[in-house]
Amino acid sequence: MTNRPADLPKHIQLYIDGEFVDAASGKTFDVINPATNETYMTAASGDKEDVDRAVAAAKHAFDEGPWSKMLNRERSRILHKIADVVESRDEELALIESWDSGLPITQAKGQARRAAENFRFFADLIVAQHDNAFRVPGRQINYVNRKPIGVAGLITPWNVPFMQESWKLAPAIATGNSVVLKPASYTPLSAALWPEIFEEAGLPKGVFNLILGGGGTAGDALVKHPDVPLISFTGDSSTGAQISTNAAPLLKGLSLELGGKSPSVVFADADLEEALDATVFSVFSLNGERCTAGSRVLVQRDIYDDFIERFAERAKNIVVGVPEDPKTEVGALVHPSHFDKVMEYIEIGKGEGRLLAGGGRPEGFPEGTYVAPTVFVDVKPDARIFQEEIFGPVVAITPFDTDEEALELANNTKYGLAAYVWTSNLKRAHNFAHAIESGMVWLNSNNVRDLRTPFGGVKASGLGREGGYRSVDFYTTQQNIQVTLNEAHSPRFGAGK
Ligand code: NAD
Repeated sequence: MTNRPADLPKHIQLYIDGEFVDAASGKTFDVINPATNETYMTAASGDKEDVDRAVAAAKHAFDEGPWSKMLNRERSRILHKIADVVESRDEELALIESWDSGLPITQAKGQARRAAENFRFFADLIVAQHDNAFRVPGRQINYVNRKPIGVAGLITPWNVPFMQESWKLAPAIATGNSVVLKPASYTPLSAALWPEIFEEAGLPKGVFNLILGGGGTAGDALVKHPDVPLISFTGDSSTGAQISTNAAPLLKGLSLELGGKSPSVVFADADLEEALDATVFSVFSLNGERCTAGSRVLVQRDIYDDFIERFAERAKNIVVGVPEDPKTEVGALVHPSHFDKVMEYIEIGKGEGRLLAGGGRPEGFPEGTYVAPTVFVDVKPDARIFQEEIFGPVVAITPFDTDEEALELANNTKYGLAAYVWTSNLKRAHNFAHAIESGMVWLNSNNVRDLRTPFGGVKASGLGREGGYRSVDFYTTQQNIQVTLNEAHSPRFGAGK
């Protein structure tokens, strides 16, 4: 099987004010294919000087250009065209994404379709948008004048990169802002397609700008830029904390979507076939490189032995393979340094739990960043593999006896992004969900997203919510306008002399 997409570039550039350019410094960085660890292209490595130019272009487009002042309906048409272009290129996009990130091709296709859907969703939402008005009969009216804010800095991670970028780009530009996107340096290939897509759809010059490069250089310059009032960041919790500190002196608007160690809680009264399918999928899909992965599975003791045996059997049967093979269920991890981190956790796990499946490289893959789906059981709650985000195909399974114990275990990490609960008892399901410290809970369901719902975490998993109108709120300011309908009735200070 030949896995190289046709017409791969040898080098990709920054995109500033409608032009492809190299970094002012001339610096580049290498980009690798994770399945082979081969360096297949270089990318321009932007830093502060390039960020300054990109922000100036975005600000000029915002202040002088048509985009921020256009009717929502007109912007919506362009967003629909963007969705059309993404859809028309979804095969190519999936191939590119799978090549660059190691994602299995079938899952990369799903993510390409989701990216198009994000644009369509916000295209529809902004034309349906209405704002509040408050009337005091005969006296006054207040109405909300919603406005775009300016230049939004969008900083994204390497897992499902194109889809994550679309999740920020769509609402940011739908609401009339200009943007500077800084994607993760492990996976810049699909991001390099945005300029063509936006040009074809007719997005005005300067509204979208792309800076490739490191987090500590390009990302940092964007966070600290005084003309960027908004930062939407998705990534690691410690990076989120750093960004929060750096943005604080400039009092920026921040949306932080961070890490997770989400529990899947399986009660003995659950539909065990469905629970098994979903819990296996939750931790091993997208190579386990998924912020909402159910990477801790808590199982009621009555069914524990049977469940872990079946779970391990499934994990052993998962098809690990080259990312471009449609039969592949788990592909190659994104980068050798991430592979090393996951392997280190597997070694730690061997001292913390009982290994039932995986535990290293899969057979037949001596090269590349392949990891066998790995199952640790009887994991104690203070174990590092129970507490820390591994972000790979590794699960920690722990038994519980009572609802109280399950809840304590579920809440016993610094994270609080997602949770999955499996039970046929309606009252237990809702009461348990309400008590879980997480931004999102799925009851008897795997991670199905309705784009209208709030997305985000609590505790170390994030700050703020995106999704539906919450994204619109983040990327806009709501100015209240008050109008008096009769006399102003002001106390007459200074009129008494
Ligand atoms: P990361 O924090 O290392 O990097 C994310 C982005 O931030 C990259 O573009 C990086 O270059 C940039 N960056 C790094 N340091 C920076 C700094 N000081 N200033 C500005 N930008 C900086 O994360 P990652 O390893 O790319 O992604 C994996 C993490 O993302 C995991 O923790 C995962 O859970 C999380 N994630 C969260 C969600 C969510 O919605 N909650 C979704 C996907 C991924």
